[in-house]
Amino acid sequence: MATRGWRPVAAAAIAAARPGGGGPGRGPGAGPGSGAAPEPVPEPATPATAALYVHWPYCRKRCSYCNFNKYVVPTVDEAAVRACLVQEARTLLHLSQVQSVTSVFFGGGTPSLASPRTIAAVLEAVAGAAHLPMGAEVTLEANPSSTSPARLAGFREAGINRLSIGVQSLDDAELRLLGREHTAAEARGAVEAARGLFPGRTSIDLLFGLPRQSQDAWARGLAAALGLCDDHISLYQLTLERGTALAAQVWGGTLPTPPQDLLADMYQTARAMLVAAGFRHYEVSNFARKGALSTHNLSYWRAEQYIGVGPGAHGRFVPRGEGGCSREARVQTLEPDAWMREVRSHGHGTRRRVVLSPLEQLEELLALGLRTDEGVTHERWGHFSPQLSLRAVFGEPGEAQDLQQQGWLLLDGGGLRCSARGLALLDSLLPALLCQLQRRWAPPAAPGRAAAPGGGAPRRSPTGDRAGGEAAGVVSGGCGE
Ligand code: SF4
Repeated sequence: MATRGWRPVAAAAIAAARPGGGGPGRGPGAGPGSGAAPEPVPEPATPATAALYVHWPYCRKRCSYCNFNKYVVPTVDEAAVRACLVQEARTLLHLSQVQSVTSVFFGGGTPSLASPRTIAAVLEAVAGAAHLPMGAEVTLEANPSSTSPARLAGFREAGINRLSIGVQSLDDAELRLLGREHTAAEARGAVEAARGLFPGRTSIDLLFGLPRQSQDAWARGLAAALGLCDDHISLYQLTLERGTALAAQVWGGTLPTPPQDLLADMYQTARAMLVAAGFRHYEVSNFARKGALSTHNLSYWRAEQYIGVGPGAHGRFVPRGEGGCSREARVQTLEPDAWMREVRSHGHGTRRRVVLSPLEQLEELLALGLRTDEGVTHERWGHFSPQLSLRAVFGEPGEAQDLQQQGWLLLDGGGLRCSARGLALLDSLLPALLCQLQRRWAPPAAPGRAAAPGGGAPRRSPTGDRAGGEAAGVVSGGCGE
């Protein structure tokens, strides 16, 4: 599906803002206030809760713009995949010692191609291994071509209580350009059926910035979507990804590249239309009204624990069940058959695990939290950094103060957050803020080393991302060292 609740912060992007790509301690500036290096920060007291993401890796057709971890295969041994998803969910819940799962999100691929039986089996496994509260948000990403009313009813019976439908466009020519399997009429039918079964809990995804898409066409499409949608909309700027058919057409000169100013205008037009329609712009790419925010995705943006199950799924949790006391970034094996072999052998298919340093955790918290309109609260920051407050890092003269004076950023009793217009420029603001964090965190500079230059004015850009949560993935530039 086109939607991602959130894909993990690209480590390379944060590293790009880190002087020389080094870890804590490489910054040239002084520590907070006196210039003394902060004391080592203990790992935050991790609550025994986590969100859980489940990846269904199969699609029926390859969309022209998609570089997600998905596979188009003639047949899927669903019973085998189901057994492995169940086994891995149990294993990772045991490893994390998570007592309560706050939300579950089935993403893909096209998880609406899985049978309701598979969804039910995974949810039963989760509820058997940890507490899954009644009413916890359980979302399924759905493709309009696999959402008949009967199928949707089956998903509801299985335990799904929220749908995220990959509409992408309500224009048949645009859908063909995107290589989508469905028509605009099918998308309309899917949303109407979903709203009947999941009232107030049906989200739609739309893409903008398609080659040759005009501002008027985008505004008309969004107006049509507003006439159709429920209380949650995700808007993603189309990103050209290496290896995709669409990127080949654009880079080969067959299709034009949308101009940056047009993309920025499209984003601002959409924001104005949605706000006028009563939506809260609560995250760079996400809008909700009547309180219909995605609690699962908020878990990512608040840097809470999450467990990733299935091929290529990512997680962030403390593996307390094996004696761990530090948060790890984990990635499951990408390829489904290899992943299944590993799950059968070891109980899980974790391919890579990296202990995150306290600075890396703060960098993620900053990059993700600033995506939301609530920003990074003092409480949340203090959870990860009990000794070095948000004000100690960003309240001193430096890049953050410059950005506040320019109206892009706010630091007050609530915490640190972007202004409404700063949210659209987050990609440009982040490098300077990450540099400031790294300098404050760093031990004193070696004699004779110069301080890093300031961040400078942000560049004008549109949202810069398509899939929510990838803002950090487009951070560019270093700290000027
Ligand atoms: S439905 Fe299309 S966009 Fe979604 S994962 Fe499959 S190929 Fe990619």
